Amino acid sequence: MQIAKTFDDINSLKKENPGRIAFVPTMGALHKGHLSLIQLAKNHGDQVIVSIFVNPTQFAPNEDFDSYPRDIEKDAKMLSSEGVNILFIPTNEVIYPNGYNSEIKAKEAAKGLETDFRPHFFDGVVNVVNRLFSAVKPDIAIFGEKDFQQLQVIREMVETLNLPIEIIGAPIARDEYGLALSSRNTYLSKDELKIARTLNVVLRNTAITKDYETAKSRLLSNGFDKVDYIKQRWGRVLGAAWVGGTRLIDNVEITDF
Ligand code: AMP
Repeated sequence: MQIAKTFDDINSLKKENPGRIAFVPTMGALHKGHLSLIQLAKNHGDQVIVSIFVNPTQFAPNEDFDSYPRDIEKDAKMLSSEGVNILFIPTNEVIYPNGYNSEIKAKEAAKGLETDFRPHFFDGVVNVVNRLFSAVKPDIAIFGEKDFQQLQVIREMVETLNLPIEIIGAPIARDEYGLALSSRNTYLSKDELKIARTLNVVLRNTAITKDYETAKSRLLSNGFDKVDYIKQRWGRVLGAAWVGGTRLIDNVEITDF
């Protein structure tokens, strides 16, 4: 696996590695969910490029940017043994050089849900993904359905900017209790993990009952400290809730019987 740190590195490594480029952007602290995206990337492209960049602009000042889990050596080993061709690890200055002033805005898909609680978030996401896309210039990019609203925001961005990139959504990777895998799960204590594992159960139930208020009170009685939202959109039930200081999100498809 080759390492790229700058736009120039990517350009010259791409010349050495011809073919269709499948790209997986991440914030690192990799788990099996990320690996499933890499598998999809391998299936769809000739060359797989993964980026690791913890993007400061999508965190609010009170959020976990400083404490976000980082282990670049472990991540690099994992990616190398998965057969990833290029790992792109830009610095903040590479992504946001002095004078970077081409900011874009997230549009319709960003309205409501996450934005009601993290108003800064999707503008941060579209800007960093757009910068990463302009560095990597992929043919295909893979995003997880775990962050379902984010996937819709990226699809909308690609359509609006008319980027020649095919966006592929990857199914949610879960643990044996159905908990969606997430880098932030490492924050959970043993007791919190038990509570966290009930989120997917309540969402699946709500996809049948469509009773969103009962879902909220069930999560609170299960031990969640706060429910940001449980709502229906894009044929799914999407939810965000807090266990202690950890915010979890998940979603399930509504299948009408
Ligand atoms: P992150 O490193 O959390 O920014 O995630 C990088 C990519 O992996 C995003 O497209 C996420 O949606 C995706 N992802 C994270 N966790 C999962 C999961 N459990 N299942 C599927 N995709 C995931």
